[in-house]
Amino acid sequence: MVSMPVTSTCSQAKQVTVPGRVELLQQIDRSVAACSGNDGCFALLVFNLQKFREINVEYGHAAGDVVLAVVAERMQGELRSGDSLFHIGNDEFAVLLTQLKTPQVVQLAIMKLQEAIGENMEVAGNVLLITALAGAALFPDHSDDRDGLMKAADAALHYAGENNLPFLVYGSSIRSAEKQFADLRGHLKRALNNSDLKLHYQPQVDLQHGTLSGCEALARWEHATHGWIPPDVFIPVAEKSELIDTLTYWSINAALREWFQFCGSCSSASIAINLSAKLLRSPEVVDLVRRAMNIWGAEPASMVLEVTESAMMTDPRASLHTLSALHEMGIILSIDDFGTGYSSLAYLKKLPVSELKIDKSFVQHMADNPQDRKIVQSVIDLSHNLDLRVVAEGIESQQILDMLIGMGCDYGQGYYIGKPMPIGEMPPWVKGSNWHLPGYVSV
Ligand code: C2E
Ligand code: CA
Ligand code: CA
Repeated sequence: MVSMPVTSTCSQAKQVTVPGRVELLQQIDRSVAACSGNDGCFALLVFNLQKFREINVEYGHAAGDVVLAVVAERMQGELRSGDSLFHIGNDEFAVLLTQLKTPQVVQLAIMKLQEAIGENMEVAGNVLLITALAGAALFPDHSDDRDGLMKAADAALHYAGENNLPFLVYGSSIRSAEKQFADLRGHLKRALNNSDLKLHYQPQVDLQHGTLSGCEALARWEHATHGWIPPDVFIPVAEKSELIDTLTYWSINAALREWFQFCGSCSSASIAINLSAKLLRSPEVVDLVRRAMNIWGAEPASMVLEVTESAMMTDPRASLHTLSALHEMGIILSIDDFGTGYSSLAYLKKLPVSELKIDKSFVQHMADNPQDRKIVQSVIDLSHNLDLRVVAEGIESQQILDMLIGMGCDYGQGYYIGKPMPIGEMPPWVKGSNWHLPGYVSV
């Protein structure tokens, strides 16, 4: 990232010019050269502003710029002479603390900076509360070179976020978590090379017509010694490494192949595949999907790609670009886990999606929880008002199934209807179930 002056004309923020990532790297190099041989010489702090993208989406980029300027000014105001502030990414700042007498000073400095950032600020007539996560690494305790130090501070920031902590200083617990991650990534890489991953298929039904409308493909991994590893564990590992491309390519191809072997004749049924957050930001995914569809002769309208609400919000502009290209190909796009993330209605309206999937956390307990029931009804109404079809996931009882039918929900999925199963179990399931699959010829 090039040096980015953080400036604003807002009355709240003075004109502050903050050096960028390149200057930070140069300054670390200088500090490393100056400190070599001494203990606990300097510390690198990285700060990540929380929900900054949402501020840009909700209040506009001008408001986002004001926030950055105010934050920079506040941080600058807390620094001692000799310490320096850098703006190293869209929502990321770094601080170099020099001449450290004791490591404890680092924690105090982070807390002081977070407190300053966290004071209410008024931007474009709105009072905003900005918070920042922080991670820190010390030279030479945690690394004695520039890249190692950056990596350690980033890892500390990352693990602070994962563990709901306001900040973390790099240490042995992070080192062991990093080792676990590296081990799991190694196992996953081998599993992908050896075709050890499988897909299971969970039925999705048309609630208003009583038919099977399709299936969602869900990845499964049984490790030889560790047993079943849940997708909630290995998908994030794949996402944080280069493996997500391979995993997604494999899952799209495997899903289309198995699905059309099972159900080539059922023209109205669709196969839903999960698309990870990272791929939504990469333009190659469009080609990847196109190639797989050509190989298996899949009709675009028989393929649903599910993308979580939070994935779309991670980088709304890039997501919109990828989603538009997939939509133009005729693929059905679905917003997964709807209700758990943050999407403004204004943004939702712009997305070329056809379906909302109500998160299971609202559906599972709606029989006993009037609040959940109201949320589910609101999402059903919202979807219909926006001309979207709506799917409820997490249906675990006949009572909830009946309620959803009565509430006008279009589609449903859940353990009560059918658990995810290998493709070989689908024909007997279809035969034994009340959900009719139009066009299906059992072999
Ligand atoms: P998801 O896309 O929200 O998938 C639905 C999850 O809810 C699945 O968990 C499914 O087994 C579970 N589920 C379905 N019905 C019920 C129910 O009635 N009650 C309860 N308690 N749970 C139900 P699973 O298979 O463990 O997958 C977890 C997540 O992992 C998925 O959430 C999805 O985000 C991700 N995932 C799974 N397979 C893939 C994949 O191939 N690619 C990507 N990118 N992500 C995947
Ligand atoms: Ca899904
Ligand atoms: Ca979901």
